[in-house]
Amino acid sequence: MATSSAGPEIERLIQLLAKLPGLGPRSARRAALHLLKKQDALMRPMAEALSDAADKITACSICGNLDVSDPCSICTAPGREPTTICVVETVGDIWALERAAAFKGRYHVLGGVLSPLDGVRPEDLNIGKLLDRAAKPEIKEIVLALNATVDGQTTAHYLADRLDGLDVSITSLARGVPVGGELDYLDDGTLTAAFKSRRPA
Ligand code: ZN
Repeated sequence: MATSSAGPEIERLIQLLAKLPGLGPRSARRAALHLLKKQDALMRPMAEALSDAADKITACSICGNLDVSDPCSICTAPGREPTTICVVETVGDIWALERAAAFKGRYHVLGGVLSPLDGVRPEDLNIGKLLDRAAKPEIKEIVLALNATVDGQTTAHYLADRLDGLDVSITSLARGVPVGGELDYLDDGTLTAAFKSRRPA
């Protein structure tokens, strides 16, 4: 189905852009037009960056992170705590935690969460390798840093069950009042979770 009156090259560009998350056909047309207007300043550098990334970036065979080397730079960094593994849903979650510089151990990317509705089963996720890693004697703690969604929490419970019996402590991120947050503005779920995870003041 044609989305513009442009030639096949532009059509193809629009159709590819429309596959990106958050871009429907309308915003894909706007993005394509913007790229075409800025061919030298934006379109060619972007094409090179895409091609370069596609050639060089690969998934780490240990943790699933995306990097130019396998094992990735986090798995091989000598300064990082080798005893703790932080389990996340996606590589984007590693980026968020690294931006915050909140964690100095190693990661494990599941590649999604269990979801009966979407047909995502345990064997669809990177769980087997996690169990192998968790069973190594140097591992002392597994942090389940999954999203506070129903599927994220179902997955955390499933993993906690599977990891039960290993000589590791299993922890999860605290749920609560965000830094700078005012109680009156919090949604009910956040407020309830904060109340449940209250601690001695
Ligand atoms: Zn890695």
